[in-house]
Amino acid sequence: MDKPLSLKSARTLQITYNLPISRTSKFWEGLKEGKVYATTCQKCGMLHFPPVADCGNCGLSNVKWTELDGEGEIVTFTQVFVKPASFSKEPSYIVAIARLKEGVKALAWLTGIKREDVKVGMKVKLVARVTSDGRATYEFIPV
Ligand SMILES: [Zn+2]
Repeated sequence: MDKPLSLKSARTLQITYNLPISRTSKFWEGLKEGKVYATTCQKCGMLHFPPVADCGNCGLSNVKWTELDGEGEIVTFTQVFVKPASFSKEPSYIVAIARLKEGVKALAWLTGIKREDVKVGMKVKLVARVTSDGRATYEFIPV
């Protein structure tokens, strides 16, 4: 079988898309107000972060919104040098997973600290942030 012929394009392809957030809009609005929300299933009690509209444990769609305090401890972390295209213009950054005091684990960028000062078990806080280009997001900061 002959190998199909192809040309490699030198152009960069940029894709933008819309994420459906109508059932989790409270989360995005909360971030803009400085609040970080999770959802708690009203049947089995499972806490989800990021929030979900349907419980991943029992499938029920009856979840209630729970504002997180944000305090937690780092479980693991890494520094990202080879970045996805959407962050290609950013300097290298630290991504951490922390167990929050409410019991759920969260993954987010860790900012405001040098890599060599980060330790497993250190206290962090998950905070809401709006970026300079208007995106609502969340990140860990050291406490
Ligand atoms: Zn459930």
